[in-house]
Amino acid sequence: MGDCIFCSIVAGKIPGKKIYEDDELLAFQDVNPQAPVHFLVIPKTHIPTIMEAEAGLLGKLLFKARELAVLEGCGERGCRFVINCKEDGGQTVDHLHVHVLGGRSLAWPPG
Ligand code: AMP
Repeated sequence: MGDCIFCSIVAGKIPGKKIYEDDELLAFQDVNPQAPVHFLVIPKTHIPTIMEAEAGLLGKLLFKARELAVLEGCGERGCRFVINCKEDGGQTVDHLHVHVLGGRSLAWPPG
């Protein structure tokens, strides 16, 4: 979709360190990691925010995020699954994505 950076990664127009791919979903390392484990899981279809996503897709996104979190070593100590939404939620890329952050203890609440 247009100049969406995540659509460009899906299309292979810009590089991404992919860790998983199927017909609907793509997971890749965050370019600016905030924890030892920090990757993103996205739908390949351009869906701007969680507000536009339907239930089935959200289920698949979260289920895959959990599955990959375990594969990335977060099964024992846990991790954080984050979906930022629009301005107040701190979303900077307008293509739905789940952050998976782990490998260290994370503070709560966020600032
Ligand atoms: P958010 O603030 O929730 O929209 O998160 C967007 C995330 O995308 C940030 O953590 C960025 O570091 C990450 N990001 C932006 N551009 C890229 C890219 N080309 N490859 C991987 N991650 C990216």
